[in-house]
Amino acid sequence: MADDPTDPTDPTATTDPARTLEAVPEDWDRALAVVAHPDDLEYGVASAIARWTDQGKTITYCLVSAGEAGIDSMPPDECARVRMDEERRSAAVVGVDTVEFLGHPDGLIEANVGLRRDLAATIRRHRPEVVISINFRETFGFPGFNHADHRATGLALIDAVRDAGNRWLFVGAGGEPWDGVRMALFGNSPVSGHGVDITDTIDRGVASLEEHRVYLDGLPEGTRGTDPDSFLRGMATQVGPGLGVDLAVAFELIPL
Ligand SMILES: [Zn+2]
Repeated sequence: MADDPTDPTDPTATTDPARTLEAVPEDWDRALAVVAHPDDLEYGVASAIARWTDQGKTITYCLVSAGEAGIDSMPPDECARVRMDEERRSAAVVGVDTVEFLGHPDGLIEANVGLRRDLAATIRRHRPEVVISINFRETFGFPGFNHADHRATGLALIDAVRDAGNRWLFVGAGGEPWDGVRMALFGNSPVSGHGVDITDTIDRGVASLEEHRVYLDGLPEGTRGTDPDSFLRGMATQVGPGLGVDLAVAFELIPL
């Protein structure tokens, strides 16, 4: 349906900046953010992370890959070291001290039982009330198709939340069963119904993305987002009015 802004299969759909968003509930203390690549959280979600760590919440990052295939001019082993360092620094900027890497292959991440096992074990160790990721839908609401790794990671994460609570699954993977995850939040989904006010924290969100300097400098000329400040402010300015604030980031909230 050409005019449906929420149809993720419609390449002509555009995210409706005027849509009304509900505020993401903030009555929780611990979250685990799981994404495929260093930089995924920094394209918008990190500004919300900064808000939440300011509130005293504990947020842990889990990177499924090291992003080792992400810089065309740099071999994977060197690239992995650079990008893991960049991710640790960008996490620190928004108040996140713990950054873990699962070591799945960048570009070839599969939503398989092996990834579910690794994520379930991570969930059992950290016992989050909320899991956070980025959009796993087929598109972002404008022409183009979402990355295979983003799609696989989001689906595996939802499954792993359920797995983590079942004591008969992944016995011996580490940690006690944990069924305390209330919701999953996926940033910049084309079917977002919720938002977070980032008016006071977008500066740190921008600084967080700036930490990916080697990665950003390696992107082809003209790629969206190579100027973190204008890119992130542009997105946040579009989303803000839907939440009744100046600047916001949109989330798809899935109750679990
Ligand atoms: Zn990515």
